[in-house]
Amino acid sequence: MTARYDVVQVASLGEDFDRRLAARHRVLPAWREPRGLAAFGAELQDLPVAVTSVRHGFTQAMFDALPALRAVCSWGVGHDTLDLRAAAARGIGVSVTPDVLDDCVADLAWALLLSAARRTAAGDRYVKSGQWRALGRFPETTRVSGKRLGILGLGRIGLAVARRAAGFDMEVRYHNRSPRPQAPYGYEPSLAELAAWADFLVVACVGGAHTRHLVDAKVIRALGPQGILVNIARGSVVDQAALLAALRAGELGGAGLDVLEQEPTPAAEFAGMDQVALMPHVGSATRETRAAMAQLVLDNVTAFIETGKLLTPVAAAELRA
Ligand code: NAP
Repeated sequence: MTARYDVVQVASLGEDFDRRLAARHRVLPAWREPRGLAAFGAELQDLPVAVTSVRHGFTQAMFDALPALRAVCSWGVGHDTLDLRAAAARGIGVSVTPDVLDDCVADLAWALLLSAARRTAAGDRYVKSGQWRALGRFPETTRVSGKRLGILGLGRIGLAVARRAAGFDMEVRYHNRSPRPQAPYGYEPSLAELAAWADFLVVACVGGAHTRHLVDAKVIRALGPQGILVNIARGSVVDQAALLAALRAGELGGAGLDVLEQEPTPAAEFAGMDQVALMPHVGSATRETRAAMAQLVLDNVTAFIETGKLLTPVAAAELRA
């Protein structure tokens, strides 16, 4: 007889989550199979809910393998790796994990901004490698407080970045496709003009095809030789070849990057660039936030199975976009 499952898990979200999900629901742990969903047949026919992560995504082929699917619960807030068109075409709900990660991603944006401006990563190497003793004074860096902060994408994370700027006495302006009338920050309809105005430009918009290379050579040049670009959104939003060329030519002052076009990125790409602070895509990766994200996935799964409704669905407009 065919085994019946409520949930198919295409990605492991950590031992603790996997155990708690399995304790609560009848789970098919497809992630254990190297061939993924292709390893299964009849078990998939009446499965209503799938669990994945933004890293593993959810493709058209996965939707096709699950004829009774009604909801996909994903870990992470980005949905650039989830095939939302395929979901919309079949009326399948998709949930992500918004809000709970805003603070940690915004904190990291500030860590990168401060590190790129004040060169804390370079200073750390300077002290630990004995250069302080050998060479003496560390070069002067760039002031942060009182400067101008531009934000591309004043959404949940962008707002958390903006709120933190008050502590640095900074003026904030932003660029979205449409202004947010309630936000106490100036709206700039042109991204290039926002970059020309700003000392620091933080990228916090969504990823995906429609924002690919929004930050291009023109925007980078507008930010200028004293300007610093911070990206905690997606590597795809920034034209990395143009960024590297501008950094090498001194046309951009520096960068703080949690996300890159190719992840993991070849070590040589940024070698020797003390004006660049890098992190390996860990914006939300604190113990507290990762636990909250896992809990929200579990709550979405349980809510859907018990009530037919997701707690934090991707908006219908985004599903159809
Ligand atoms: P959100 O609340 O949906 O905000 C996204 C913002 O992007 C909105 O203000 C939106 O405004 C703007 N936007 C979308 N398309 C745009 C375009 N073409 N031009 C200009 N602005 C555009 O999303 P969020 O929760 O803040 O998350 C933002 C992104 O951060 C996620 O999508 C994810 O990729 C990334 N993220 C990264 C990490 C990490 O580890 N580094 C962790 C979590 C999230 P309009 O709709 O008005 O344009």
